[in-house]
Amino acid sequence: MKKIALLLALFFPFILLAQDCSKVSKKTIKRLQTDINKLASDQMEGREPGTAGEIKARDFIIGRMQEIGLTPKGTESFIQAFSYFEKVKQKPNKTKLSLNNKKLKLNHQFYPINLSSNGQIEDVPVISVGYGIHMPDQGYSDYERLDADVNGYIAFMDISSPKDLNAKAPDLSSRATEALDRGALAILLYNSDKGTQVPSPSFNRIKKIGIPVAYIKASAFTNVPIEFVENASLSVTEYEVPTQAHNIIGFLDNSAERTVAIMAHYDHLGYGGEASKYRGPRKIHNGADDNASGTAALLELAYFLKKNKLKEKNNFLFIAFSAEEKGLLGSRYYVMNPTLDLNNINYVLNMDMIGRMETNMPLTIEGIGSSLIWESSLKELECEAFPLTLKKREDGPSDHAAFYYAGIPSLHFWTGKHDDYHKPSDDAEKINFEAESQIISFMESFILLMDSKGKIDFYLREK
Ligand SMILES: [Zn+2]
Repeated sequence: MKKIALLLALFFPFILLAQDCSKVSKKTIKRLQTDINKLASDQMEGREPGTAGEIKARDFIIGRMQEIGLTPKGTESFIQAFSYFEKVKQKPNKTKLSLNNKKLKLNHQFYPINLSSNGQIEDVPVISVGYGIHMPDQGYSDYERLDADVNGYIAFMDISSPKDLNAKAPDLSSRATEALDRGALAILLYNSDKGTQVPSPSFNRIKKIGIPVAYIKASAFTNVPIEFVENASLSVTEYEVPTQAHNIIGFLDNSAERTVAIMAHYDHLGYGGEASKYRGPRKIHNGADDNASGTAALLELAYFLKKNKLKEKNNFLFIAFSAEEKGLLGSRYYVMNPTLDLNNINYVLNMDMIGRMETNMPLTIEGIGSSLIWESSLKELECEAFPLTLKKREDGPSDHAAFYYAGIPSLHFWTGKHDDYHKPSDDAEKINFEAESQIISFMESFILLMDSKGKIDFYLREK
């Protein structure tokens, strides 16, 4: 019987694969439990980049990659460090504004913008400079209409645009520089037209034009009407927050021409922050499904491909990305600074949240549009355990997107959103380990099936 099975396997390898493709493996479940419990434990503090929790998670994953026997493929051993800027922060006790000696509330009624320098101006008269536009060649100048000099004043400026200006109105940066050149000590902005986009209260870098610049929200003028603003005190102390994050990269060398890249982000939200859906006191967001589940699956696939005694026709690159939750930063950085020639990457498999499958729930696979081979190949597998939802969408929102934009066929696996998404309640005890083990079996079969298909051609779908 064994001999027959072996013969069958030799001549019809996919029949055997098809039978195997949704098996539950107790050993896999055990490893998944260990890895997910560890990554989603409070000790890791939600794995936010730039924190001790990220470092602990990083070192744990490196340890696992070493155990499995992967070769380092980062820039320093398994690590590829990169820097980015978090949202600029303000010192609340040193970021203040009062109009006619009435204090406004930071963020509720005003905020410094990305053009602002730090500084403190006490009780200075305010001069209204209209739109702050000076375009004499267009026959328009707010400053020429003024009968006073701006020098030594706070410029009070409307960010919208005059109707009678034929040309495109200059941007805020040029208007602010104009006021600065005319000697303004600070600039206070407001908006008289709902159609005008207001400056963002949240930004990562400061352009520092040389004086404090703040935007006043419409709600502030119920206290002090715009036309009665006479003097102001303004202080701004804001600072950039440079942060270092770490991608982790391991390699399985089969001396093949091409490499399959398998990836999952391991970072999460730390104690919450902007991306959190939770409103309440500071709490660790453990991110068991998002994305300890994908990270553990990455390690399990590495384990399978390393230990399976087959020499596949592809090499395998395993990347655990950081700063995905900050805007897919780790994968973007990797694509700009690859440690392996991107031309040799055959295709990409990304996993982001594959731990919450319930009975009759489908496994969603996105990115079907990135190669014409995907749909028919997936149908060859015919797995019984769960239905598949195949979506053409190639561009995210997860780490495979950067690779798709680089012209590489990319698939993304996930089991869908749930009530605990981006909340502290995304915990390890809610993971369906049995189903995750089946998803991994499915992916293993899929990888072996694709191994017989040579180079996977990229497809650019017309949308
Ligand atoms: Zn995620």
